[in-house]
This record gives sequence, structure tokens and C-alpha cells, in this order.
Amino acid sequence: MRIAGQVSIDDIPNICPLLSRAVNTQYGEKGTRMVDVAGVRFGGERPVVIGGPCAVESHAQTVGLAHAVKRAGADMLRGGAYKPRTSPHDFQGSGLEGLCILSIAREETGLPIVTEVMDPRMVGVVAQVADMLQVGSRNMHNYSLLAEVGRARKPILLKRGMSASLCEWLGAAEYIANQGNLDIVLCERGIRGFPSGEYSRYVLDLNVIPAAKMLTFLPIVVDPSHATGVSAMVEPASRAALEMGSHGLLIEVADLTFGEPKCDGLQAIDAATLARIVQFARERKGVRSQESRVRNKGETQPSSSLKATLAVSS
Ligand code: PEP
Ligand code: MN
Repeated sequence: MRIAGQVSIDDIPNICPLLSRAVNTQYGEKGTRMVDVAGVRFGGERPVVIGGPCAVESHAQTVGLAHAVKRAGADMLRGGAYKPRTSPHDFQGSGLEGLCILSIAREETGLPIVTEVMDPRMVGVVAQVADMLQVGSRNMHNYSLLAEVGRARKPILLKRGMSASLCEWLGAAEYIANQGNLDIVLCERGIRGFPSGEYSRYVLDLNVIPAAKMLTFLPIVVDPSHATGVSAMVEPASRAALEMGSHGLLIEVADLTFGEPKCDGLQAIDAATLARIVQFARERKGVRSQESRVRNKGETQPSSSLKATLAVSS
């Protein structure tokens, strides 16, 4: 029986001709297209660690956390000025003031910023401050937003919809690529499934990391904070994600001296835990480069001219 609209990963070359590994043979079986965010490179052997608050709440909280994230050794700062909340009566983010605070945090620490944009009409404004635009889980299926961020000349962090299949996620990425923007980093952030909600917020789908790498050349990172919803699970989940080949991590951090966070406090880790995760990620880089040396033995390398035009890495 054939069913209308049903797709499988065999259809990826047709759904995603711009992003499919099978179509874009220049990337070979393992090559990744590096994405550069203000000098931070996603997709190489060195995992990228991004830390920061769930939401930008105040100047003191965000700038203070930015310094702590920097001291912990992380590469980038995260923080939402616009928050997608379940209830319209909950804190919605600090908006334009939040964007200003983020730009001050960058000025003081030098850390590039990733922040979420939820509304196609706000892409231009958010892109003036953000080094990387985040499309959140709830908006992964928002095709007009995907097209709009595709037209912005900024790298995109595309979170997986909480109930999205891999085909749907890559299809969403293709909407961005279709506007001429291939600077896309995928972010697995946990999916709904049995038994999400019982002992963790979502189910962290680690298997999708190697699966996505097989199907596309885009880098992929993991958000262990929203995936688990439990601060004590964030560190082991981060290690597991790196073991499974994640190119990086997006982690929520809080400092209780600024008070309880307005959202997602239960999943936030402190700066000392972030520093341990960063250390693990840096050691992991050594393991990875050894692995790629072993793997590269006897493997055909891309030609040097190809290497020159494409930033290819494992
Ligand atoms: C976030 O990272 O701030 C966020 C809201 O995550 P998600 O879209 O994955 O729920
Ligand atoms: Mn959050």
C-alpha cells in the first residue's frame, strides 16, 4: 500500500538535493561542510561548546554569565531575547532590551552570540545583533520563517522539532538552503516519545547524530539541557553526545546569585560543571583526531583542488 505524503530516508536526495550527501558527492562519505560563526568553526574535530542563560533577563545576569561562560572555556554565548513559552502569560523574553544586553555581553567577552528569532518580521532586527540565528524546536515547521532566515546573511542553528522525523528536519534545513544560505548547523534537542515527561523532559535521540551525518554534510550539535530537563543529567548527556559524534553542545547555564532563572532553572548547570564539560570536549578532540588518522589510512582523500574550495573535515 502506498500512502500520500509518506517519505523515508531513501527520499532524502529528492527532498533535499542541496543538502543531501548522496547528491553532493564532493563531500564524500564523511566530509562535513564547515560553518564559521565569527571565527568559531562548526564541523571540525574540535567540538564547539555554547553556554549561557535560557533567557536574557537582565544586564547583570547575562553579562555576568557571559564572563562565567568565557572563563569556563566555552566558545559562544547563548541566550533568548524572545522566548517561545507555553503560556502567553509567562515571561516572553526581554525583546529589544535583551538584544542590546547580548551585544554588550559580546563586546565585553568577545564571545559570538546565538539567539532565537521566532517571527519572520523580526529576522532583520535580530540579525543585526546575532552572530548566529536560532530557529527553535516549535518553529522548525514554520516555512516562512525558514525562508526568511535563509535570506539573512547569518549562519543558522536549526533545532529539531520535538516531534519531527529526520526527513522533516532535513526538509526544514533545505528551505533555508533554498534561499542560498548553506551555513546551517543542526541541533538535536530531544524528541517526544515514550517515556518523555516521566523522568526526563524529552528523549535525547543520540542515534540521530550518526544518521544525520550519513544523510547530509551539515554539522550537527546537541542541546542536552532541553533534551533532559534535569540539571544532573546534562553533564553525562553531553559526554554521550560527544561520544556519538556531535560537533558541539548548546547548554543552559545559571548563576543563582542573580536569583532563580525565570525559565528552565531546573535544567541549568553552574559554570563549574560547564568547565568540566568543556574540558571533556577538548580531550575528546584528541581522541577524534587519532580516530581520523586511523580511518584515513588507506582511505581515498579528496583531491587537493577540491580541498582548496571546500572546507572538508571528518
Ligand atoms: C532554547 O534553546 O532556548 C529553546 C527554547 O529550545 P527549544 O526550541 O529546543 O525548546
Ligand atoms: Mn530553555
